[in-house]
Amino acid sequence: MASPCSHIASVLILDGPDEVDGCETCLAEGTKWIHLRMCMTCGEVGCCDDSPGQHARKHAETATHPVVRSIEPGESWSYCYIDDAVFHVTGAEAAGSNVEEPHSFNHDTGAGRLELWVGSGLVAWVHYGAVGDAINLTQTKVIEGNEGLGYDGEVVLEAIEIFREQGKSIIPSDEFARAFITYRPELHGVVAPSMRARMLGESDD
Ligand SMILES: [Zn+2]
Ligand SMILES: [Zn+2]
Ligand SMILES: [Zn+2]
Repeated sequence: MASPCSHIASVLILDGPDEVDGCETCLAEGTKWIHLRMCMTCGEVGCCDDSPGQHARKHAETATHPVVRSIEPGESWSYCYIDDAVFHVTGAEAAGSNVEEPHSFNHDTGAGRLELWVGSGLVAWVHYGAVGDAINLTQTKVIEGNEGLGYDGEVVLEAIEIFREQGKSIIPSDEFARAFITYRPELHGVVAPSMRARMLGESDD
């Protein structure tokens, strides 16, 4: 049987880098990626064909470095863009779990929902609604299996930042106000004094 790829001679690097921040081009351009690939000729890290930028493929074309490998945790397969073939290069080790998965936000303004994605998985969301010119944060949810990692706080903080940049004030629900008061002293200012007083059972003056 013929080899699935006739470009094995271009492979100079077998193993992924020890530390990866993400797709190099996406990081430079501020775009999002889904999965990471590494060029096996020069080591450049790019994003997969499911990512909007398809930077691994673009690098393969412009640099004429046809073979990449997956550097997703536990994966060691390689792929040749010219032969459109998946195969394993002898000696290529499975990637470690040291690849930090990218955090990204998906904002559905129509539904009043901000989502936090880690890698290709939805991990948490916050719902909100407009009350006049203010924003009422109404509900947060951590997807099962992702509890205890701080994702709810991360998505709420992002929502607050988005609306503050728009010059809108935040009206937290009781649930949020209580969480801010209890866990996030830096967010006490988000909770109106009267609400804070009510939560804490203090007088308002
Ligand atoms: Zn090939
Ligand atoms: Zn990219
Ligand atoms: Zn390359």
